[in-house]
Amino acid sequence: MSKKKFKGISTVTLHTANHENDNFSHTTPIYATSTFTFNSTDEGMERFKGSDKSRIYTRWGNPTFTAAEETIAALESHNLTNEKGEPLVLKALLHASGQAAMTTLFFSNLSAGDTLISHYSLYGGSQELMQKVLVEAGVNIILIDVRDLNLLETTIKANPATKLIHLETPANPTLQCVDIEAICTIAKTHGVKVSVDNTVATPYLQQPFALGADFVFHSATKFLNGHGSALHGVLLGKDIELMHTKVWKWHALLGGNSNAFDAYLLIQGMKTLEIRMERHCSNAAKVAAFLENHTAVEKVNYTGLATHPDHAIASKQMKQHAPLLSFELKGGITAGKKFIDALEVCTRAVSLGTVDTLVSHPASMTHYGIPREERIKYGITDGLIRMSVGIENYEDLEADLTQALGHI
Ligand SMILES: *Cc1c(COP(=O)(O)O)cnc(C)c1O
Repeated sequence: MSKKKFKGISTVTLHTANHENDNFSHTTPIYATSTFTFNSTDEGMERFKGSDKSRIYTRWGNPTFTAAEETIAALESHNLTNEKGEPLVLKALLHASGQAAMTTLFFSNLSAGDTLISHYSLYGGSQELMQKVLVEAGVNIILIDVRDLNLLETTIKANPATKLIHLETPANPTLQCVDIEAICTIAKTHGVKVSVDNTVATPYLQQPFALGADFVFHSATKFLNGHGSALHGVLLGKDIELMHTKVWKWHALLGGNSNAFDAYLLIQGMKTLEIRMERHCSNAAKVAAFLENHTAVEKVNYTGLATHPDHAIASKQMKQHAPLLSFELKGGITAGKKFIDALEVCTRAVSLGTVDTLVSHPASMTHYGIPREERIKYGITDGLIRMSVGIENYEDLEADLTQALGHI
């Protein structure tokens, strides 16, 4: 764990990773190795005894992973204290993808007969992991509207085997937000742990550990990497003993470890997290205001607008509004396709959190295979466009949106 204490986020992301290495490399070396050597049996024994497994075998840890893990732990704990008023210490585990990190989270906390409660609006992969894999492993999955705190409490009481509540706020792609602090307070009185998917907000905008969370999860593929250059997932916990024992063990046994090159890309990407997020967020606020006043647009879904149903919760727990939005075109599916095809600056792609603006049309792309009635129930209407706002110069974004909206 890094002992350094920095006032600002950019200093954290630039200086947490250890610069000490045998060859004085300025950037973190890429330790492309499966195994690590011992000078003697005694040295080997010492390493096996210690909790730092990062110099034995790469599935158990690797110095390049450690540098990324310590940076993310420093971000999520920045300026936070524990119950005793001491600086909060976190343990992070880097994985090959968000899905791999979530697998470790669920399997190290849940077994057959346990119940997992979550919000009904989740990233598709999280929901499928619960309803396909966890269900087959004997875990009871309950998806409700956890914004209804009475419903949440009644559900916990009716299901005494509840072990974990998993939250995702803001949710991808609906942008629904749930009250982390209120839910953690209820969970604590019933001895239930809470994990929070902080992918869309990033630790720059929201720190779930400050609000009572036990675990924080990231698809670091998104804003943390920031450049769309690799997949990564990270699982963080504040129970250091648990993180070093069962959670680490499950992580190592399930085998969803990262690799040194991707970890290096993540370290490089995170260095500019703060300045990227500032630009992402200011661009998104401007794009939302522009779209709201455009005659071709029926509705804009962005937590920064007072019309968003979860605007109050989002404003309370995030420093600024996350740079993800969706909007509904008046012309339905035809307008949606014409608009997307006419874009010249924005990138046509799924995913989110890259430096360039990503635009997708869920009805003809991600949700194409889902029957129309069903996807409309989840809020994926015919003319819905999803936009992850990038860091382009705003004037170019507005000009591109204007010309593309002119084509429908
Ligand atoms: C992308 C994403 C995931 C899954 O992460 P991968 O890195 O694609 O495995 C989980 N949660 C959210 C909110 C995501 O956006």
